[in-house]
Amino acid sequence: MSEASNSNRAQAHPLGQPGGVAARAQHLAWPFFELRHQELVAELDPWAARRVAHAHGGDTDATCRGLVRALGEDGWLRYAVAGLEHGGLTDTIDTRAVCLIRETLAYHDGLADFSFAMQGLGSGAISLFGTGDQRARYLPRVAAGQAIAAFALSEPEAGSDVAAMACAATLDGSHYVLDGSKTWISNGGIADFYVVFVRTGEAPGARGITALVVDADTPGLEIAERIDVIAPHPLARLRFAGCRVPVSQRLGEPGQGFKVAMATLDVFRTSVAAAALGFARRALDEALARATSRRMFGQTLADFQLTQAKLAEMATGVDAAALLTYRAAWMRDGGARITKEAAMAKMTATETAQRVIDAAVQMFGGQGVVSGETVERLYREIRALRIYEGATEVQQLIIARELLRAAGAA
Ligand SMILES: Cc1cc2nc3c(=O)[nH]c(=O)nc-3n(C[C@H](O)[C@H](O)[C@H](O)COP(=O)(O)OP(=O)(O)OC[C@H]3O[C@@H](n4cnc5c(N)ncnc54)[C@H](O)[C@@H]3O)c2cc1C
Repeated sequence: MSEASNSNRAQAHPLGQPGGVAARAQHLAWPFFELRHQELVAELDPWAARRVAHAHGGDTDATCRGLVRALGEDGWLRYAVAGLEHGGLTDTIDTRAVCLIRETLAYHDGLADFSFAMQGLGSGAISLFGTGDQRARYLPRVAAGQAIAAFALSEPEAGSDVAAMACAATLDGSHYVLDGSKTWISNGGIADFYVVFVRTGEAPGARGITALVVDADTPGLEIAERIDVIAPHPLARLRFAGCRVPVSQRLGEPGQGFKVAMATLDVFRTSVAAAALGFARRALDEALARATSRRMFGQTLADFQLTQAKLAEMATGVDAAALLTYRAAWMRDGGARITKEAAMAKMTATETAQRVIDAAVQMFGGQGVVSGETVERLYREIRALRIYEGATEVQQLIIARELLRAAGAA
C-alpha cells in the first residue's frame, strides 16, 4: 500500500490516532492478500468513516434500508454477489474481499456490517445455485441495494440441530405449498425476499430439505413477530400458512436444500470471524486511546504494568484471530475445502473479540457501561456472533469431527 493512501486513511480515522488505522492496515502486508485487497481497504475505510459511522438508536429498519442503499449505490455490494453479468465484480465470491469489507465496516458500525453481510448471506444460495433466470431476477437488485435479502433456516425447535426442521412444503401442481414457521430471521420485516429451507420429505433428516426463494409479498407469508435483541437489527419470526410458491423458485434439486444451506454458510462463516475481528480492533483502539489519556495515581492508566499486560493479551488475540480468519479466506479463494479452518476462525475470532471488548470496557471504568459509549455498543454487538451461524460448541464439534475423520483416514 502506498504511503499516500496510508496517510489519507489516517486523516480520515475518527479517533485520529497515529497507529490506529495504520496498525489495522499492517496485516494487509501479509501474504494472504493481493494488491486489489489493499486498494479495497484503502478506499473503503475512509468511505465507512464518512458514510456509516453514526450514533445508534432511532428507527433501526430505516437505518438498515438506508445503509443497504448507500452500500449499493457506492458499489460495495457488488462484492456480496457472484457473477459479472448479474452485478457482481467477479464470477465467484472473493472471500478475502468479503472478509476485509466486513472487518472494516464492523470497525466503524455494526449495522453497516450487518447490512452488507445479510445481502451476501441472503442471496448467497442464489449466487451459488440459482438458474440464469433466478440470478438475473435477484442478484442485480441485491448488488445495487435495491432489494433486501434474507436467509431463513432456523426454527423454534431447530437451531443448532438444523436437520430437525419442521416447516414443510408439499407439491401441488406447479407450486410448493408452505406451512410452518421460521425464527431469528435477520432482515425479517424489511426483506424483499427470503431464501427459505423447507422439509419436502424426499428422505428423512437432512436429505429431505429443499431451498426456495420466497418473495416477501407472497400471500400466506406473514411476519408473525418482531424480535428485539441486545444489539438491535431487523429480526423476525415468519409464519407460512398455505403459502404458494412456484416450483421455478426452487434453488438446486429437490431434497438438496441442506447442501445448499451448508455451502452458503461455508462461504459466509469465515466472514463472521472477520466481523468479530473488526469489533475487536475497534475495542483495542478505544482501549489504547483511553489507557494513554486517563490519568490516575499521578500517571496514566497505560503506565501500569497490569494495563500493559492486558493490552498485550488483547493485541496478540487480535492478531491470532486475524491469522486464522485470513488463512481460511485465502484457502477458500484458492479452491480448498475449509470446513475445519472456517470453524477455527469463527470460534477463535468471536471468542477473542468478546474477551478483548470486555477488557476494553473494564479500562473505561464507569464510562464503559454508559449507553452510547463505543465500547458499550461493541459489548452488546459481539454477543450474538458467538451463537449464530453455528454456536461455539457447534464449531468445536465440527473441528473435532474433521480431525477425527482425518485421523481415521490416515
Ligand atoms: C441475532 C441473531 C440473528 C440470527 N439470524 C439468523 C438468520 O438470519 N437466519 C437464520 O436462519 N437463523 C438466524 N439466527 C439463528 C441462529 O443461527 C441460532 O440461534 C443458532 O443456530 C442457535 O440455535 P438456537 O438459538 O435454537 O439455540 P440451540 O440450538 O437451542 O442451542 C443453544 C445452545 O446450546 C449449545 N449447544 C448447541 N449444540 C451443542 C452441542 N452439540 N453440545 C453442547 N452444546 C451445544 C450452544 O451453546 C448453543 O448456543 C440468528 C440468531 C441470532 C441470535
